[in-house]
Amino acid sequence: MGEREAMEYNEKVERIRKTEYPMLAGTTYLDHAGTTLYAKSLIERFSASMISNLYGNPHSASTSSQLSTRRIEDIRLRLLSLFNADPETFDVVFVANATAGIKLVADGFRDHGTGFWYGYHRDAHTSLVGVRELAQKHRCFGTDADVESWLEKPEELDIAALFAYPAQSNMTGYRLPLDWCRRIRALSQESPRRIFTLLDAAALVSTSRLDLNDSEVAPDFTVLSLHKIFGFPDLGALIVRKESGTILESRKYFGGGTVDMVLCLREQWHAKKSDTLHDRLEDGTLPIHSIMALDAAMDVHEKLFESLDRIAQHTAFLAKRLYDGLSSLRHGNGRSVCKIYKESSSVYGDPHSQGPIVSFNIRNSEEAWVSNGEFEKLTTVKDIQVRTGGVCNPAGISSYLGLAPWEMRENFSAGQRCGNEYDILGGKPTGVIRVSLGAMSTIRDIDNFLDFIHDFFVDLTAVSDTEVNYPLTLPRELASFYVESLTVYPIKSCAGWKIPVNTPWEIRDVGLAWDREWCLVHAGTGTALSQKRYPRMALIRPSIDLVDGVMRVRVVGSEHEISVPLSANPTYFVEEDGFRSRTTNVCGDTITANEYKSEGLSDYFTQALGVACRLARFPSVGNSALSSRHSKAHLQQHQRSSTRNMPGAFPDGRIAEEVMTRPILLSNESPILTISRSSLNRLNEQIKMSGGKAAQAEVFRANIVVAEDLRSVPGTEQPYVEDSWRYMQIGNQYFQMLGSCRRCQMVCVDQETAIKNQEPFVTLVKTRRFDGKVYFGQHTCHIQGLAESSTSAQYPTIKVGDAVQSFGVDDDLERFRSGQVG
Ligand SMILES: *Cc1c(COP(=O)(O)O)cnc(C)c1O
Repeated sequence: MGEREAMEYNEKVERIRKTEYPMLAGTTYLDHAGTTLYAKSLIERFSASMISNLYGNPHSASTSSQLSTRRIEDIRLRLLSLFNADPETFDVVFVANATAGIKLVADGFRDHGTGFWYGYHRDAHTSLVGVRELAQKHRCFGTDADVESWLEKPEELDIAALFAYPAQSNMTGYRLPLDWCRRIRALSQESPRRIFTLLDAAALVSTSRLDLNDSEVAPDFTVLSLHKIFGFPDLGALIVRKESGTILESRKYFGGGTVDMVLCLREQWHAKKSDTLHDRLEDGTLPIHSIMALDAAMDVHEKLFESLDRIAQHTAFLAKRLYDGLSSLRHGNGRSVCKIYKESSSVYGDPHSQGPIVSFNIRNSEEAWVSNGEFEKLTTVKDIQVRTGGVCNPAGISSYLGLAPWEMRENFSAGQRCGNEYDILGGKPTGVIRVSLGAMSTIRDIDNFLDFIHDFFVDLTAVSDTEVNYPLTLPRELASFYVESLTVYPIKSCAGWKIPVNTPWEIRDVGLAWDREWCLVHAGTGTALSQKRYPRMALIRPSIDLVDGVMRVRVVGSEHEISVPLSANPTYFVEEDGFRSRTTNVCGDTITANEYKSEGLSDYFTQALGVACRLARFPSVGNSALSSRHSKAHLQQHQRSSTRNMPGAFPDGRIAEEVMTRPILLSNESPILTISRSSLNRLNEQIKMSGGKAAQAEVFRANIVVAEDLRSVPGTEQPYVEDSWRYMQIGNQYFQMLGSCRRCQMVCVDQETAIKNQEPFVTLVKTRRFDGKVYFGQHTCHIQGLAESSTSAQYPTIKVGDAVQSFGVDDDLERFRSGQVG
């Protein structure tokens, strides 16, 4: 269809819109797949026919009953001919919707022989995925290439096989190869085992013709939603190749209307209807009036839109305009506004490879994701109807959005559910915005929508290519530091795990991701164990595997390794073990933790430590008072004196207030602990002077070790300068220093060998005692939301090697935040 023809057809649709779809007035309607839109004359024609005829239930010889029967048979034929399907070869079974058609096929296979193998494509709708639960074996094909290589060499199976896929993805609009049905059929004819094909045409046929003329090429089972084509009636159809239909007759259930005779009392026997396949599969009273409406729907649709081919061309033209428009939207700094999810081989404008659906997410000029919840609120104001979320396409969503199974589980245990507001988790969107066009869509809808995105989401003021937009330009008052190492301690009081270099690590409210989320609790008292009493805990070495989504644990001297899922609440996923909640005491706080029930896990840790204990996870689910802890750190006297007389200093109470509301997990006092290499060097010099054994950084169990960059600031180190820091900037993240960390003998446990020494505590007592208490290192917390709308705020990370700048002045927090300091 050329440009002029396309415009003419669009004009025609505009006219149809005015007269036939008055409910669309003033609305930009972009959610055709899945929703019903019916023409005014369809409803009028249908009601006229209902008022002037008497249609009875087609189960008797009465005139009204006969009229219904005759009409229904005519409509079946007419529906088959819409798909060019020969009634000799195919039969049509009326069902409630496409899903019911899929389930009818699945029921037949389930009850057939010893069950079945089920293969389905990644792009499958949820309704197609669910069939796997009835199958003996199943496989999800992740790519077209996987299907291709399986077609080359299908696995040997000793049970019936069903391969299912959507003719068009309801998420991306990608049109999958229909040729697979032919190839599978050809393949089955060579081998003794048949592989049957189930084509989910629900999304495709709403805007495209499906031709079943060549029976060698056609699927065995085709399901569709008639309401997606015509808007009304709410009805689905299953088109069955008669010869393949016998397998559906394995279905054990029989309902009224499907049997000729049933014996119940002394004998149990029934005879299925013998006439047609649909007679044996349509349980109960047919949706007579819906079927009558279907006749009217086919009439009206054809009259209004000419043909499905015309609709295919029209919608392809609109989808291309939308795709081109969205993909060319740029912020002032040149960055794309929309991240569009699309099969790489498909081409918008080409109805063979691509249907009229565009799925995408919006990013701001800093490349942070725009929440779909926010997007939806604005569409409501502007009367734009568009779908957001997981769009019933689970595997498509996870692969296009790059969500690993464990992340989906993590999101689920964090509270994400179909349709709720958890739309960005861990810096990734959990759903999409989906535009789906229909026959009655017009250029006006597309342009309205593009204008809307342009008006609300394009930031023309963004300056060009600033890699990271630092909100603060603070003076570099003190020596410049960098991050020497980052460590998390997944299990409280057990060994730390060094975050690999070049790995940006997420910072959460409660500290570095995966720090102190687990603890070991005494089987008897329920108290969290600590290295102070059980030095061997240092030999328990956890590590975090973000590929498999597990914490792995090894014990020094043992070959045996265990792993625990990272998901906050694996009870959803591990049936036999799971959790029980347990009142636990951590550093004087009474909390409720989730204790792992698994005996295997308990034995592992009990053996490692020689004390009966169990692994527990915090926080437990639910929001009771016992499921949260708060930071206790505060500035110490020795720190205050250094800044007391600084200009601009504000009363300490203000910082304290800010700090007290900081949530923490199982760490002792604060979300993050920072130590300085220079201070450690000074301490070790002093230890060596008195003949002691130098301490490793590990004994201080810090998360962040900062070291001085002596190349940029030549000269001597500045030990303990961090005592006077109030804020620090690491990479593009900001932190507040909460006060010095008080120390005990636990620093004497060698973290390699678990052997206790005297040092460094003895030297610390001599050199770092203030008001009778011993301090080393600084409690720290992340300051959120400095650059509210940037990726660095949405998914804050730091990494080894990041530059550290410190700010020693007790400046007003608000001024610090707004970047006016200095
Ligand atoms: C809409 C849709 C379905 C479900 O159709 P219902 O008629 O609602 O059961 C299944 N598959 C695809 C591809 C769809 O677009």
